[in-house]
Amino acid sequence: MDIKRAIVDLAPGPVVRAFAAPYVAGKGIESGIRKADEIWKANGLSSTLDLLGEEVFRREDVEATVATYFGMADQVRQRPYVSISCKPTQLGIHESEAYCLENMRQIVGRAAAQGTRVTVDMEDHTFTDVTLRLYKALRDEFDNVGTVLQSRLFRTKADIETLHAKPCRVRICIGIYREPKAIAHQDKPAMKDKLFDYVQLLLDKGHVPEIATHDEPLIERCLEYLDKRGCPNDAYEFQMLLGVPRQQVQRRIVERGLVMRLYVPFAEEWKYAVAYCKRRLAANPMMGAYVMKNLFGH
Ligand SMILES: Cc1cc2nc3c(=O)[nH]c(=O)nc-3n(C[C@H](O)[C@H](O)[C@H](O)COP(=O)(O)OP(=O)(O)OC[C@H]3O[C@@H](n4cnc5c(N)ncnc54)[C@H](O)[C@@H]3O)c2cc1C
Repeated sequence: MDIKRAIVDLAPGPVVRAFAAPYVAGKGIESGIRKADEIWKANGLSSTLDLLGEEVFRREDVEATVATYFGMADQVRQRPYVSISCKPTQLGIHESEAYCLENMRQIVGRAAAQGTRVTVDMEDHTFTDVTLRLYKALRDEFDNVGTVLQSRLFRTKADIETLHAKPCRVRICIGIYREPKAIAHQDKPAMKDKLFDYVQLLLDKGHVPEIATHDEPLIERCLEYLDKRGCPNDAYEFQMLLGVPRQQVQRRIVERGLVMRLYVPFAEEWKYAVAYCKRRLAANPMMGAYVMKNLFGH
């Protein structure tokens, strides 16, 4: 077993929970909505709510997850500052693509009726093809659905070029998952240069980039470019994770009249949040270092 994976697996739940606390709204849909209302009222920050959970395999658990997403769609109505994020591995992809698509159609349709947008998150490269197929099928039918592309993957340029004839909202990020050398950039400066290139390409293709990064020089580079290009404020937005301390830059983005959206995860049970954070830590051990740096400075 990978030594890092073993260390993360052995970390006691309460330790992981303490690490996770700033990044998770809490337990239950209400905690996610409370946090979304709080940051909107206090700082004009939008949110995307995400239900944390381990990968879901059993049909009864998938059904419970779908029911929670229905609850989210219903409860966020009349909050134009809140959207919803979901993942194929929570919604039945392990059973079949058709089952997963049907679950997503129900969720996106229910959200559409309430005027709420849904983003289909991107997982590791083994799910890229299927996630894009699901997304394209949903986009054929709905206007309130977006997805995510990862600038570390070599394939992303082609994925943007072939995404959809209709305009799409695309969260563009470097990607959280470590991917093999054969298919992905390994160094962050290259991933971030690509992210900048893909913001331009997405706009060229008529899509709406949702720029998800905490890297302040990269944000400045994008802002300067977007200003020069003369993009209207609703042609793009910025996104960050709840708990990553970037208050100043977030305030500046809001003051410019742009959307600054935080990813607000909540869990039905803390054990799911802990399991999720352990998986994320194992996938990206730098996350632990970020938390320490954010808490205690450089
Ligand atoms: C709204 C949003 C949604 C996302 N959705 C997806 C997705 O669907 N699929 C996917 O693969 N990836 C997703 N990601 C993760 C993303 O791909 C990156 O892994 C993450 O944003 C870190 O990259 P960065 O550009 O901020 O640069 P980095 O160089 O990794 O980070 C810059 C700085 O930000 C801080 N920081 C970054 N990440 C964290 C963290 N987790 N905890 C604490 N501090 C941190 C650190 O201070 C770090 O030095 C999402 C990110 C955001 C903001």
